[in-house]
Amino acid sequence: MADTTKVAGVEVSTAHYIDGQRVASTEKFPNCSPIDGKHLADVSAAGAAEIDSAVAAARRAFPAWAALGPEGRHPILSRFARAIQDHAKDIAAVETEDNGSLLIGNATRMVPRAAHNIQFFADRARKLSDETIDSPEVVNHVRYDPAGVAGLITPWNGPFMLTTWKVGPCLAAGDTAVVKPPEWAPLSCSLMADLAAEAGLPAGVLNVVQGIGEEAGAALAAHPDIDRLSFTGSTDTASLIGASCARSLTPVSFELGGKSPFIICADADLDAAAQTAAGQYFNAGQVCLAGTRILVEAKVADEFQAKFRAAVSHLTVGDPRDKNTRIGPLITPEHYKRVEGFVDRALRAGVKPVWGGHRHGAGELYFEPTLLDGVSQEMEIVQREVFGPVLTWQTFRDEEEAVRLGNGTNYGLAAVIFSKNEEHAMRLAKRIVAGTVWVNCFFVRELAAPFGGSRNSGIGREGGNWSFDFYCDVKNIAAMKGSFV
Ligand code: NAD
Repeated sequence: MADTTKVAGVEVSTAHYIDGQRVASTEKFPNCSPIDGKHLADVSAAGAAEIDSAVAAARRAFPAWAALGPEGRHPILSRFARAIQDHAKDIAAVETEDNGSLLIGNATRMVPRAAHNIQFFADRARKLSDETIDSPEVVNHVRYDPAGVAGLITPWNGPFMLTTWKVGPCLAAGDTAVVKPPEWAPLSCSLMADLAAEAGLPAGVLNVVQGIGEEAGAALAAHPDIDRLSFTGSTDTASLIGASCARSLTPVSFELGGKSPFIICADADLDAAAQTAAGQYFNAGQVCLAGTRILVEAKVADEFQAKFRAAVSHLTVGDPRDKNTRIGPLITPEHYKRVEGFVDRALRAGVKPVWGGHRHGAGELYFEPTLLDGVSQEMEIVQREVFGPVLTWQTFRDEEEAVRLGNGTNYGLAAVIFSKNEEHAMRLAKRIVAGTVWVNCFFVRELAAPFGGSRNSGIGREGGNWSFDFYCDVKNIAAMKGSFV
C-alpha cells in the first residue's frame, strides 16, 4: 500500500478512502505528535476534486444501502462495531500519538464507546418506522426514510469517537457518508476506513477525505449534492459552514464549543465536588463539555478551594501514554499560543492566578493546570472558550446570583451542579440554560438521551431518535380508513 506511515507500531494509510479505494492527493499536509513534536506523516490534502469524487461515490452507493433497510444493514454495522472493539488497542495508541489525549482514557472509554455508538444506532434503527397515530379518518404511519448523502466534519480533540457518534446514526439510518476528519489529528479516522472495509461495508457507503478545513471542509459544506451536514467544532467555523449550507438549504446539525459553569452549592458533598472539579483539567482541558467556570457558594468557598487544591495537586502532567498522567499536551504550538494568550491578557487585566498560569516543565506544549481568581463576568476569560487547562473562580451568595452567573455567557453546552439536596439541585438545573446538566456527576452520557448545545453551543440534538430525526426524512403516510378493499 502506498502512502502509509507507522504510528505506535500500527500501519496507517495517509491517503483518502473513496469508493472503497485508497486514493492519494499530490498535495500533502504535515502531521506531528503533540507529545514531543515528532513528525508522524504527510497526509493527503483534498481539494474540491477529491470531495467531488467522494460525494459522487456516496451518491452512487446510496440507493442500494438505503434499500437494505435496517435489518439488512444491521449485520454489517454489527461487524463494523466488533472490528472497532477488536482493534481498540491500536486505535487508542494512534489517537494518543496523534492528538495527545490520554491513552488510558482512549483505550478504556473512548474507543469502546465508539464501538457502542455504531452498535447502538444499528440496533435502534430496527425499531424505527413502527409508530402509527390513529385519528378519526386516517391511520398515520410514521416512517423514517433515509435522506441521502451526509457530510460529516469532526474536530481533533476526540476524532475517532466523535466521528462514530455521527457515522453510527448516519449509516444506520440508510444514508451514506463523506467524513472530513480534523487536519490536526487525522490518523484514527483513516483506521476507521480500514475497519469499515474489513467489516464488509459496500464501497462508497463510508468515504474518508483528509484535508485542511478551509479547503476540503469548506468544499464539502458547499457541495450542492449533499443532503445533510453534521459538524462538531468551533462556533466560528459553524457560522461559515451554516452560511454555505444556507445556499442550498442543506439541513445542519452543529455540536459546538462551551463555557460551562461548574456550580458548587453550600449543601454539596465538597470532597466529591473537588475530585470532579479537578477532572475538568483532563486532556489539558481540551474537552468541549468541561465545566471551566467554577462557581462556588461564598460560605463554603475557602473550604472547597482547599479540597480542590489538594485534588489538583495529585494530577500528573506529562506524557499521555503514561497511565498515571491526567494532563497531557495542548494539540499544536499554534493552539498553545492561543491558550497562553488568553491567560496573559487576563493577567494583564488584573486577574490573579490561584495556581498555575505558566508553561509546565514537561515540554513545549504542556501548560500548568490553572485557576484564575478576580475575574468579572464581562471579561474575555469568562466569556470565551479557552480550550486549555484554565478555569476561572467566582463565588455567589444565593441561587439568583448562581443562575445569573451560570447563564451569563453566550454558550449553553453543559453545566455541572453539586448539591446533596435533590429539590434544590433540580430547581437550579431547570433554570440553567444548557443542553446537558450533570447533577453530582460529570461526563456520563447515555446514548438514548438527547445531547447538544443551546445558544452558541449548537443547533439540534443527537442521541436516541433525535439523531434519526436529523439523518432521516421523516414521513407521514396518512391512509384513509375503510378505503382499502
Ligand atoms: P474547528 O472548528 O477549527 O475545526 C473542526 C473541523 O472543521 C475540522 O475538521 C476542520 O478541518 C474543519 N473546518 C475548519 N474550517 C472549516 C471551514 N471553513 N469549512 C468547513 N470545515 C472547516 O474546531 P477544532 O479546533 O477542531 O475543535 C475544537 C472545537 O470543537 C472547540 O470549540 C470545542 O468545544 C468543539 N467541540 C465541540 C464538541 C461538542 O460535542 N459540542 C465536541 C468536541 C469539540
